[in-house]
Amino acid sequence: MRVALATQAAPGRPNEDFAGATPGAAVLLDGVGTPTGSDSGCAHGVPWYVQALGSTLLAGMNQSEGSLTEVLADGIKAVASMHDFACDLSHPGSPSATVVMLRRTAHAIDWLVLADSVLVLDVIGAAEPMVICDDREAQVGERYRKAMDALAADTVEHVAAHRAYVENLRDHRNRDGGFWVAAVDPLAADQALTGTVPAENVRAAALLSDGASRLVDRFELATWRQALDLLDESGPDELIRRVREAEAGDLDGARWPRGKTFDDATAIYWTFS
Ligand SMILES: [Zn+2]
Repeated sequence: MRVALATQAAPGRPNEDFAGATPGAAVLLDGVGTPTGSDSGCAHGVPWYVQALGSTLLAGMNQSEGSLTEVLADGIKAVASMHDFACDLSHPGSPSATVVMLRRTAHAIDWLVLADSVLVLDVIGAAEPMVICDDREAQVGERYRKAMDALAADTVEHVAAHRAYVENLRDHRNRDGGFWVAAVDPLAADQALTGTVPAENVRAAALLSDGASRLVDRFELATWRQALDLLDESGPDELIRRVREAEAGDLDGARWPRGKTFDDATAIYWTFS
């Protein structure tokens, strides 16, 4: 097996994505940032949260034989206990993150996806890759994003509309009928999409934050098949380079309206055979 990994923060900001891998497991998180002018009950911040949760999940996947749902629930609980005595974790802006987990056991590959990071499995013999994404946040977001998308990016008005969008979404976070992310409540783990596939059926897997998957699912500059081939031939840093090139060619968001002109972009490419 071989794992390649690349991550790049949006220019001028700390990276709020996390990626890590061991010979038997991989994890990718995309932290939900606090927009300028918004507050959060946590003194540690989003980069701290994704690093704490990501490394806890990686250890859990290697040390526990429980399901990935159990590993995630235990991880959320463990990280909450690292700061619940110091921070206000009931604050709606407390740090949260998307989660993709992948574990290789003797004969199978277990996967888990929570919120809008993407897992792509290159299934042997299948015409199209298997793409797993939890789009509940995007469905809720549809209701609120019109005002933001109509404004040119990098304007004061767009920054304000993005902040309003993020704050509107908070009211739907970890609620029935809304969307679910890793934050403080371990019950969010039960809402993750999960599955197991026989190891011999999978050639490779890609774990992508939405800042990397946007090459395919927002910009439509490649198919999932082409993205896997690119990762295989040129590696995750080339995929991120192409995302940055597209973003730089559409600074005002006229072609591809989006909340963030540049986003943290992270990709793990794991080849099994
Ligand atoms: Zn904190």
